Amino acid sequence: MSPLTTRSTKRSEEELRALAAEGALLDDADAVGVARWAAENFPGTLAVACSMAEGVLPHLISQSAPGVDVLFLETGYHFSDTIGTRARVADELDVNVVDVLPELTVAEQDAKFGARLYERDPASCCAMRKMEPLGRTLAGYEAWVTGVRRDEAPTRTETPLVTFDEKHGLVKINPLVTWSLDDVTDYALDNGVPINLLLSDGYPSIGCEPCTKRVAPGEDPRSGRWAGLSKTECGIHT
Ligand code: SF4
Repeated sequence: MSPLTTRSTKRSEEELRALAAEGALLDDADAVGVARWAAENFPGTLAVACSMAEGVLPHLISQSAPGVDVLFLETGYHFSDTIGTRARVADELDVNVVDVLPELTVAEQDAKFGARLYERDPASCCAMRKMEPLGRTLAGYEAWVTGVRRDEAPTRTETPLVTFDEKHGLVKINPLVTWSLDDVTDYALDNGVPINLLLSDGYPSIGCEPCTKRVAPGEDPRSGRWAGLSKTECGIHT
């Protein structure tokens, strides 16, 4: 569906920075309180990013912001289980799922750059299929909410609760920073939230199918992403 943003003019960068500073003072252990603050301060201009590993973040935010836009980076390379989870999130939760699309289809990208660009140049593939579409879409919002957790990877241990996102020029809110993967799955089970079956099948971190491998129990949860390459992040959260 199309984005549902309602504010006709974005507030100034100065105003958004002030809101980010206010949000940074919130209790990082109170995800519900953070969601409420986000809904109150960004009515109609809030977006939730969701990889469709589960629908926990869309559910949490929609309790305070019914009908909120949920951005799904539809790269064209997802597992069928991920597409199924996206469909369930759209059907079962009070949210508006927005497919964020690259300029080129996979076929067009293959024709222009050769097949399986993700094997030869994953940075360019992610830039075209994730980064550019996300940046273009976030330009229409004042704040976005992500499910980044500090326990996910060494690169994420310092993730702030609320910050001004310098790269994209809006407020970034991470209500789950203190959560563990068990906290996420417990919330999903307690609230009947859709879960991607891959999570319990050796994929604690789920991305595009060609770039996501199974992880052995006890291994770094994100070690299955771009396995064998130095790349560890697609660039969205760095
Ligand atoms: S994760 Fe892999 S397939 Fe997906 S956009 Fe990045 S390089 Fe391309």
